[in-house]
Amino acid sequence: MAPADSAQGGQRPLEALNGVGPQIASRLKALGLEREVDLLFHLPLRYEDRTQITPLNRLLPNQTALVEGRIVHQQVRRAPRPMMTAVLADDSGQINLRLFRFFPSQVRLLREGARLRCFGEVRPGPQGLEMAHPQVTELRPGQAAPPLPDSLTPVYPCTQGLSPALLSRLIAEALDRLKAGDIRLADPLGTISDGLDLKSALLRVHAPGPKDDLAGLADGQHPAVQRLALEELLAHHLALARVNRVRARQRGFSLDDPRQLVPRLLALLPFAPTGAQQRVIAEVAADLAGEQPMRRLVQGDVGSGKTVIAAAALASAASAGYQAAIVAPTEILAEQHFHTLSGWLEALGLKTVWLAGKVKGRARKAALEALTGDADVAIGTHALFQEQVAFRKLALVIVDEQHRFGVHQRLSLAAKGQRDGRLPHQLVMTATPIPRTLAMTAYAGLDVSVIDELPPGRKPVTTVAASQVRREQVVERLRHALGQGRQAYWVCPLIEESELLEAEAAQTRAAELTAALPGFRVGLIHGRLKPAEKQAVMAEFSAGQLDLLVATTVIEVGVDVPNASLMIIENAERLGLSQLHQLRGRVGRGSDQAACVLLYKPPLGQMAQARIGVMRETTDGFVIAEKDLELRGPGEVLGTRQTGMLRFRIADLARDTDLFDQVEALAAGLDRAQGDELISRWIGQAEQFIDA
Ligand code: ADP
Ligand code: MG
Repeated sequence: MAPADSAQGGQRPLEALNGVGPQIASRLKALGLEREVDLLFHLPLRYEDRTQITPLNRLLPNQTALVEGRIVHQQVRRAPRPMMTAVLADDSGQINLRLFRFFPSQVRLLREGARLRCFGEVRPGPQGLEMAHPQVTELRPGQAAPPLPDSLTPVYPCTQGLSPALLSRLIAEALDRLKAGDIRLADPLGTISDGLDLKSALLRVHAPGPKDDLAGLADGQHPAVQRLALEELLAHHLALARVNRVRARQRGFSLDDPRQLVPRLLALLPFAPTGAQQRVIAEVAADLAGEQPMRRLVQGDVGSGKTVIAAAALASAASAGYQAAIVAPTEILAEQHFHTLSGWLEALGLKTVWLAGKVKGRARKAALEALTGDADVAIGTHALFQEQVAFRKLALVIVDEQHRFGVHQRLSLAAKGQRDGRLPHQLVMTATPIPRTLAMTAYAGLDVSVIDELPPGRKPVTTVAASQVRREQVVERLRHALGQGRQAYWVCPLIEESELLEAEAAQTRAAELTAALPGFRVGLIHGRLKPAEKQAVMAEFSAGQLDLLVATTVIEVGVDVPNASLMIIENAERLGLSQLHQLRGRVGRGSDQAACVLLYKPPLGQMAQARIGVMRETTDGFVIAEKDLELRGPGEVLGTRQTGMLRFRIADLARDTDLFDQVEALAAGLDRAQGDELISRWIGQAEQFIDA
């Protein structure tokens, strides 16, 4: 593209703009802003009304207002603490201005006699209404006062190390160029909703009039926001279609279980697969037998029996003479898989290999040789992703608990199986229940199977909430359960954003509980332990050598100890629903009636109350996920840590479901170039993720 075109299309990198050096550019990038056009789509968080001056006698407490007047009195105090107060007066009345920190320049600015315009929040003070740290502009004598804006002043989401004023200026300048036609955005949808084309929607959202629908702008129902959300959803739809076109051209390995190992596997399991397991096994088998590489996500609540699905897929690959690999995010989990899966698969005559970071020296050499040799199935951690690891004939990659891995890691393992233009099948298993409304977009480009049934005989975990002032009673209950030979978890979740403090809190709790529970064996596990140490503690707990395990949230994922039937979660009010659900899923895996006690610190906020209520009412992961979505919104539910999932800038999947209906028809009306333009505008670089 010619440079002129690129500037007109808003494609200039931000570093090309005045006042943006490499450091500022990197801060802007942290906000997702890389090209000039991105500035236009960085929407305000809220607005300030500076369109009119409020007379001082009309001010109300807690109102944010623009006022104008003259300083009639100033007082500067240095000790015991610095404080400057100044009285601003107009014809109608007066107000105090108060500064707790100030520079000499501010003392000069607020001098007696100065004419000022101040913007800030009005609060009741010791001598009537006051404004603390207002934003101040001086009106110099003899100069005309600057005109008031006729639209609201946007306040943008900013980030540390970036001046909000600079960000506002950059966005304002980009908007000016848009207005003047120096930036022209292709607008294939045109004036589709409420007469708003793209340009007018953008200008409206950044600079609404003082009488505009502020509530609508805040909750996204405003036609201008809806217009932008629609285009964003359309862009995602188009990107997904593009991914599917790419996928349709890919070739994989056809694995149709010629030796009928899967039926043999199912026959030797100590239980009969549930209906849901059978259905998902069949869905996976159909993919594996096909021409195209599988990209399937298996979603199943904790304890729903995903390991069996993996085992069947692994057996199919081996049955056809190929190799398969399964990777888990922690050594504890991987080892548990190795234990279970090697037991089942070796009974079919298959050779399994274990590889993790701690496998070193001769054992490692032997494992690597087996992978290029006669091994059928590799089981391990991300160590399998490493460059030195090569396979003879890898045709299937299974990733358990996928949200812990980045998409790139998943790809690097898949790349190991790429041969003659053929790609290995990929199966992703997750216990994170993504609400149905989000699943499609969250896992763009993946087909989804759901295990929506738990193995028979499971009794739902009963959940109660208790204020931490009743901790004594909870310990009593714990003592009783341990006395009956049951095992329990005591979870101390993150209190500060620090693994160290969290570990210390858990350590203290473990010491207290050891003292309070004489005769019982108390173990401790937290994120500061070395993998081998964690492993050892988990192994002891699994083997019943520990009665109580005090843990931080490191136990969240996947660990299976059926005899553990009581869980106490401290600071439960601080945890999100999904995390509480994951934690609670550690109990209730055996035949005992399991219980979960949510200890909270009163008083409970409204949100925490709602969350704890949900946890008491249901154990269904999908219901919980839907509630989570309702309470927090999709941005939070999908989270920034969940690499590889789509994130939306403006659209809100829960709010904008009715826009979905229009998307398909609109997509059909666009040509390829128009579609590509929208994809690049809205998704840009992120598109590589869904190409995975
Ligand atoms: P997930 O990985 O989905 O959390 P697992 O595969 O670890 O679940 O299975 C949880 C427990 O349930 C394991 O002890 C497993 O042996 C058992 N299990 C799995 N499927 C069944 C079934 N159909 N009937 C009875 N028990 C089952
Ligand atoms: Mg599992």
